Amino acid sequence: HVLTVCAACAQTWAELLQENLQERMTKKMKFSEMPYTRIDFARVEEEMKGLMRELQEAGNGEEQFAVHKKFYRLNDRVQTQATICSIRHTIDTTDSFYEKEQEYYDAQMPAYSNLCVAYQKLLFESPYRAELEQKIGPVAFKNMEMAMKAVSDEVIPLMQEENALVTEYEKLLAGAKIDWDGETLNLSLLTPYLTSADPAVRRKAAEKQNEFFESIGQKLDELYDRLVKNRTEQARKLGFETYTPLGYLRMQRNCYGREEVENLRRQVKEIFVPFAEKMYEKRRNRLGMDIMTWSDEQVFGPEGNPQPEGTPEEILAAGQKMYGELSPETREFFDFMMENELMDVFGRKTKAVGGYMTYLPDYKAPFIFANFNGTSGDVDVMTHECGHAFQGYLAAEDPIREHADIGMETAEIHSMSMEFFTEPWYHLFFGEQKTKEYTQMHLEDAIMFVPYGCMVDEFQHEVYDHPEMTPDERKQVWKRLEKEYKPHLNYGGLPFFEAGCFWQKQHHIYSYPLYYIDYVIAQLCAFEFKEWMERDYEGAWKSYVKLCRMSASKFHTELLKDIGLDTPFADGTISKIVDGLEKLI
Ligand code: ZN
Repeated sequence: HVLTVCAACAQTWAELLQENLQERMTKKMKFSEMPYTRIDFARVEEEMKGLMRELQEAGNGEEQFAVHKKFYRLNDRVQTQATICSIRHTIDTTDSFYEKEQEYYDAQMPAYSNLCVAYQKLLFESPYRAELEQKIGPVAFKNMEMAMKAVSDEVIPLMQEENALVTEYEKLLAGAKIDWDGETLNLSLLTPYLTSADPAVRRKAAEKQNEFFESIGQKLDELYDRLVKNRTEQARKLGFETYTPLGYLRMQRNCYGREEVENLRRQVKEIFVPFAEKMYEKRRNRLGMDIMTWSDEQVFGPEGNPQPEGTPEEILAAGQKMYGELSPETREFFDFMMENELMDVFGRKTKAVGGYMTYLPDYKAPFIFANFNGTSGDVDVMTHECGHAFQGYLAAEDPIREHADIGMETAEIHSMSMEFFTEPWYHLFFGEQKTKEYTQMHLEDAIMFVPYGCMVDEFQHEVYDHPEMTPDERKQVWKRLEKEYKPHLNYGGLPFFEAGCFWQKQHHIYSYPLYYIDYVIAQLCAFEFKEWMERDYEGAWKSYVKLCRMSASKFHTELLKDIGLDTPFADGTISKIVDGLEKLI
C-alpha cells in the first residue's frame, strides 16, 4: 500500500484498511441482488444527533475519531441506499417503485446534507482538532473551512434564484427542435451530422445549429446577464469584491489561486497556442482544403472521424481483454465490475439517456452507466469513465472517507491519463486499419482542447471582474480572446458565432462557473504521463496507480510532487510538455 501516513496513526490505518478490504470481500454481491430498503430519515436524524452528542462528550481525539468512524458507517448506509435507488431508477425509468423512491430522496436529501454540515461543524471546531487532522488530514479541514466561507443564510435566496436560472438555460437548450429533412432533432441528435465526412452535410448541420442559437440569442443574453449579477451579489454579501474568489472557494481550489491560473494561461498563450495552431494546419492539409472553416475542423480527415468496429457487446469484451492485459490491478478491477454486474452499458429503450459513474460505499463498488451505440463514445466509456471507476475501486482501500472528496483538476487526471495508458489496446476497438488514425485524432483533439479551455477560463475571469459589462461588451471580449487563443478560426459566415457568441453553447459557462480550467490542468498532467509512458511505461503506470490510491489525502500540488509530475502552474512546465508532444506528433 503506497499511502504514506504518519507513524502515530499507522496502526489505526492498518486496522481500518484490513477492515475495508475484508468488507469488500465479504459483501461482494451482484448489483441485482443488492438489498434495498428505504432510508428512514427521521431515524437517521436521531442517530446523527446521538453522534453529535457523543462527539461533544468525547474526552480526546482518539474517542472523537471513534465516533467519526460511526458517522462514516451511517453516511455510507444512507449514500448506498440512495445510490442503489437512483441507479435502479435510471436503468429502468418505467419502474414506478424506484421512481417514487427517487422522489422521496430528492425531497429528503437537502435536509440530510444540512445535518451532515452541522455534524462537520462540530468536527471542525473540535478542541482535539490537531489530533483529528493527523488522522483525517489537513485537506479535509481546509475544504470544510472553504465550504463555510462560501455560503451563508443570507445568500440562500440568491442561490435558489441562481439554480432556477441555470435550469432555465439547460431547458432552453434541451428543448431545441431542429428540422432535418423532415425529422425533428435535438442538439445531441444533431451532433453526428456536425462531424459528417461530407463537408456539405456538416456545413448544413452547423448552419442549423447556428440558426437555433440565433433564435434564442436574446434569451441567452438575458439569462447570462442575470447570472453574472446574481453571482456578484452573492459574493458581495459574503464579503468579496467580485465573484471570482467565491467561485474559487466553491470549486474547492484549496492549494492554488488566481495567480497560478493566470501564469498557466500566460504560458499556454505564448507556447502552447502556436503548437496547437500547427495541429489545425495539419488537419487542413489532411482534409485537402484551402480554407478550413469551423465546421471542418471538427473532422479528422476526408473520411470523417474513425469509428470503432463491432457491436456494443464486442466493445465491452474488448474492454475486458484490455484491462485484463494492462496490469494485475486493472484485471482485478474489471473482473470485479463484470462479476458483480457493475457495468450497465448497453442501450435499452427503458433506460435514461447519457452516462455516469457512481459509487456504492457499503460494497466498495464503483458503478458505470452508459448507453452504448457502437460509436467512439462507447470507447470513451471504456478508456475515460473506466479511469474514474478504477480510481474509485483502488481508493476504496482508503479508510478515510474525506479523501474521496477529490477536486476536479485531480479527478480528471485519473480519467484523461487512462485514455493514454489504454492506447496500446486501441486496435481491439478500431481494428488494424483505423487504429493509427484514432490514436492520432485522440492526441490532436487533446492538444486542440488546451487553448480553448484556457479561453473559456479567461473569458469568465473577465466577465466576473467587470460585472457591469453589457451582453454586447461580453461578446467583444470573447471575439478578442478567440483571436489570441485560436487565431486560425474561421466561422465561414455563421452569423451567431461570428458575433462573438460561441461561448453561449458552452454549458459550463452558465451552469458551472469557473469550472473548465480543471480540464486543462488535468489534460496537461495527462500529457506528462503520455510522455513518461513513451520512455518508461511501467514506471509511468506505477506512478499513476500511486496517484489513484492517494485520492485527495494530500493537496493537488503535493500529489503531483509525490508522483513525479511537474505542476502545470510552474514556469517551464508547458514548454517541457510541448517539447515532448512535438516528438510524438
Ligand atoms: Zn471525466
